Amino acid sequence: MEIKNQDILAIFKKTGALLNGHFKLSSGLHSGQYLQCAQVLQYPEYAAQMGEAIAGKFKDEGITCVAGPALGGIIIAHEVAKALGKRCVFGEREDGKMTLRRGFKIGPDDKVLAIEDVITTGKSINELISVIRDTGAVVIGAGAIVDRSSERIDFGCELKTLIKLDVQKFKPEECNLCKDNTPLVKPGSRK
Ligand SMILES: [Zn+2]
Repeated sequence: MEIKNQDILAIFKKTGALLNGHFKLSSGLHSGQYLQCAQVLQYPEYAAQMGEAIAGKFKDEGITCVAGPALGGIIIAHEVAKALGKRCVFGEREDGKMTLRRGFKIGPDDKVLAIEDVITTGKSINELISVIRDTGAVVIGAGAIVDRSSERIDFGCELKTLIKLDVQKFKPEECNLCKDNTPLVKPGSRK
């Protein structure tokens, strides 16, 4: 099922996933907006809706398995898998290296869809895609709720996302919100 940009934004705002204010990002840069996808995904009905919408973009590709990187990718990957009627595995870091643990198996017969909540640098999902390819499986595509990347990232497969968000970032000395003395907030997670 298609989901329109304005509907996604409305859900983000309603659930507190997209905040307006004055935020200090982990990079040290400041921004007037902050996105925390976990806020949307805490509501199963919205998680399902997003999952179905992403699944709809890959429904005729013969996907056999969906994979997401921990932690951010797990919930939405599972919702996509549910909508496709396929299994879902997740990758996680062990000593900093992305791996499939817990007995999860992917093999040459699998056509895998890699799913993340938000693509910023694409680092985690890209590492997961490499791990999947190393098993001999084919990576059919990459999907996410939000594309926040500032440059095009090459995953070696097609990336399909529900919405592209350009969150503007500023150096502290060039930040107008600082000049206005708007209180600065440091949000919780690295993402
Ligand atoms: Zn500022």
